[in-house]
Amino acid sequence: MIAYLERFVHENDAESRPDDDVSSICNALDLQGSIDYGSSAAAADVAGRDFGGIYSVKPLAFVRASSADDVAKVLKAAARSPNLTVAARGNGHSINGQAMADRGLVLDMRSLDHEDRFQVARINGSDYADVSGGALWEDVLKRCLDFGLSPRSWTDYLSLTVGGTLSNAGVSGQAFRYGPQTSNVTELEVVTGKGETLVCSEAENPDLFYSVLGGLGQFGIITRARILLQPAPDMVRWIRVVYAEFEDFTRDAEYLVTRPEGESFDYVEGFVFSNNDNPLTGRPTVPLSPDQPFDRRRLPSKSGSVLYCLELALHYRSTDRPSTVDTAVNKLMGRLGFVEGLRFQVDVSYMEFLLRVKRAEEEAKANGIWDSPHPWLNMFVSKSNVYQFDQVVFKNILKDGVGGPMLIYPLLRSKWDSRTSVVLPEGEIFYLVALLRFTPPQPKGSLVEKMVAQNREIVQYCSSNGFDFKLYLPHYRSEEEWKRHFGNQWTRFVQSKANFDPMAILAPGQKIFSRIP
Ligand code: FAD
Repeated sequence: MIAYLERFVHENDAESRPDDDVSSICNALDLQGSIDYGSSAAAADVAGRDFGGIYSVKPLAFVRASSADDVAKVLKAAARSPNLTVAARGNGHSINGQAMADRGLVLDMRSLDHEDRFQVARINGSDYADVSGGALWEDVLKRCLDFGLSPRSWTDYLSLTVGGTLSNAGVSGQAFRYGPQTSNVTELEVVTGKGETLVCSEAENPDLFYSVLGGLGQFGIITRARILLQPAPDMVRWIRVVYAEFEDFTRDAEYLVTRPEGESFDYVEGFVFSNNDNPLTGRPTVPLSPDQPFDRRRLPSKSGSVLYCLELALHYRSTDRPSTVDTAVNKLMGRLGFVEGLRFQVDVSYMEFLLRVKRAEEEAKANGIWDSPHPWLNMFVSKSNVYQFDQVVFKNILKDGVGGPMLIYPLLRSKWDSRTSVVLPEGEIFYLVALLRFTPPQPKGSLVEKMVAQNREIVQYCSSNGFDFKLYLPHYRSEEEWKRHFGNQWTRFVQSKANFDPMAILAPGQKIFSRIP
């Protein structure tokens, strides 16, 4: 079979391939799933690209594995070849080619998700869902809600796969309480780079379990995950309040994320916006419904060109009386020092709340900006440096915005499990900073380059000023940079690679290790 694939490499160069090659390779692998080859539209347009729209490569094939067995067959076959690499592709929502394999095999993880593999179980008094590593979180949500249950920790946008976010961390406004998604999974089924299919958890194969969580796809392919659930609320009161001063914004955000459960909101996030009428980056991005416009006369006269919005949500049951919800919300709001009169709120179903970015996606698709490049930058910045970050980055470098949201909200290190592969800043409180840049349809290359250069300038500024920070969804090109990123965790990371993927077959798009022949 390998000989066949290698012949295929050459044929692929010549871009000529008789149809029966396709079935021969399929037959040789004996997969339940199917394969699309290098020059097919699926391989080139789907497997060779990602949401970032900055890089594109040519994979040899896009393999639609249908089971963990299929995944193991592909990995064993790659291990027998001198140079094949394999990338699991979740939903391809990476920015910098992390789920790509240049002249390698790309595994379509979505094709592993079959509804009948979804199971809910009660174990030792807690509810769990067993889901495919290729399941989209939005499908996990819908299936869990049928049981009146829900995962506890989310991402803002749910058209991401379980395996894709667990390979990074998975954070949103619930992470201050429950930790990232990697802290809310108790068992995984993983196919290692050696083609072994193993179940792992805190008790069973713990080294593999913790290496894979936040492991950037380096150690194995997650084919199943067991996710902790809680009773799902019916409704959400979704609130936004505005601050003119960064210090007031962070004081209130930190107050809310450090309160015990029951004395705070269920979701705490925030974002920076421009003090102007730009519909993508300015004051119009704040109101939650058209009947609550932003009255700029409420802003203090000394407001600067950049403002801050704290975004909050409280869960409740549809049987709760409106006055009970009002009382609970007003008690929490009473402690906050936002600009009076700049409070916006709506009541929406829990599902509508969690699928809020889906609506933004539909709008962006209609405007043609969903499919244009997204040179995003995501970072974790320690509380100890966040004021300087605001002064220099938000108020200066990015004072004209990034064409999309600029998120900033606090997280607590103690809610993250230090045994996973994720690396974080040192202090207990650190901020997620996400510069979610959008570009116009068919932007000039120079615009994207300018944005990438600005991202680099920001990272460079943080490094040269000794900031305590880490890139989230990191992207580096040299081993030196990866070493610096992992710091004292680097040795452990390298050791796990040697244990679970010794030939460096997996996730070549992360550019951490080179394939060993
Ligand atoms: P991919 O991009 O396909 O893969 C990411 C990496 O994981 C690759 O290295 C890949 O090889 C590996 N991988 C994929 N599947 C598996 C698997 N089953 N087993 C092992 N390795 C695997 N992140 C947040 O934390 N919070 C957010 O709120 C958030 N919002 C986002 C909103 C949008 C619109 C976008 C585009 C991204 C957002 N992200 C967010 C980032 C997201 O978590 C990452 O892009 C992540 O990689 C998930 O995307 P994916 O499933 O498409 O994975």
